[in-house]
Amino acid sequence: MNDIKDYSYEELRKILEEEGFLPFYAKQIFSWIYKKRVEDFDKMTDISQSCRAFLGKNFFFSTLKLVNEETSYDGTRKFLFQLDDNSRIETVVIPEGKRKTLCLSTQVGCRFRCSFCVSGLAGFKRNLKVSEIVNQYLYVRDFMGKNSITNIVFMGIGEPLDNFENVVKSIRIFLSPWGIYFGKRRLCVSTIGLLPKIIKFYKLNLGIKLSISLHSANYQKRLKLMPGTKDNPLEELISTLKKRSKKDKFPLTFEYIMIRGVNSSIDDAKELANLVKGLNCKINLIPYNYSHFFSWEVPSQNEIEQFKEVLKKQNVFFTLRKSKGQDILASCGQLRAEFREVD
Ligand code: SF4
Repeated sequence: MNDIKDYSYEELRKILEEEGFLPFYAKQIFSWIYKKRVEDFDKMTDISQSCRAFLGKNFFFSTLKLVNEETSYDGTRKFLFQLDDNSRIETVVIPEGKRKTLCLSTQVGCRFRCSFCVSGLAGFKRNLKVSEIVNQYLYVRDFMGKNSITNIVFMGIGEPLDNFENVVKSIRIFLSPWGIYFGKRRLCVSTIGLLPKIIKFYKLNLGIKLSISLHSANYQKRLKLMPGTKDNPLEELISTLKKRSKKDKFPLTFEYIMIRGVNSSIDDAKELANLVKGLNCKINLIPYNYSHFFSWEVPSQNEIEQFKEVLKKQNVFFTLRKSKGQDILASCGQLRAEFREVD
């Protein structure tokens, strides 16, 4: 038996065709599952009985088991889900005005061990299946209501591009007019900058925004903060992004967590401005939030102001953001819980 939500529209269409069924049934099946939210083949009344029997014999519908759901004082909601193998993942909804951003996990744990992120501490267990990624969205939408999600970011537990095939397939289901039909510009994939995967991702021309976790413009400092970037030289990464940004109409986003005495000095700001010169980009500055898991320190207001001043003078487009959902430990509490603009 196979989980039907592991299949893209194109794959399902092919299977039906090979089995001698009308290929356009794939549209109807997608519509029942993702639009009408019917997860029972017997209720898919516009599909022939023989096809329904075939589907019932060969496919099943997976669901996530909700273990806990918490709401922060600022409205951020965190869902803790249990998977079939008893692994647990988190999905977070971050409200900001009319915008309600769903932050999806893509792996159980993470192999990259960024030095400020709780998700990497327990190491990597496995990639999420396509169905497990899409089910996070479906569960939250069913739970909170049809219009409860306006944006989706692949920024939860795991490095999305490290689970490349399943993340891309889930994006295809999100974008499919027969499936969820989510707007391209309202989807964003976050990455620590895995260069070969970024190149592969760009080649697909999905029209999805990328957000790069930068955190330092200095290779050595960046390596200390994000050891997983070792094989992805910063210069090559920036040069690839520069070439691509000429094609894209929308700016590329960089995430930059400011840590006291590490990457928040005037020199760090100058290095950053220099690195992104000529790049159509926006930098999200996120002051580090204290976590008892790490010894990093929160930047002073003075450090933040001086840093901003340098960027302003160099005409670098930036926003200062603040973490949300801190009281419910929403994901790593740094990157993924950001989004509240404070300046
Ligand atoms: S920040 Fe992302 S890539 Fe780094 S350890 Fe955390 S989940 Fe993994």
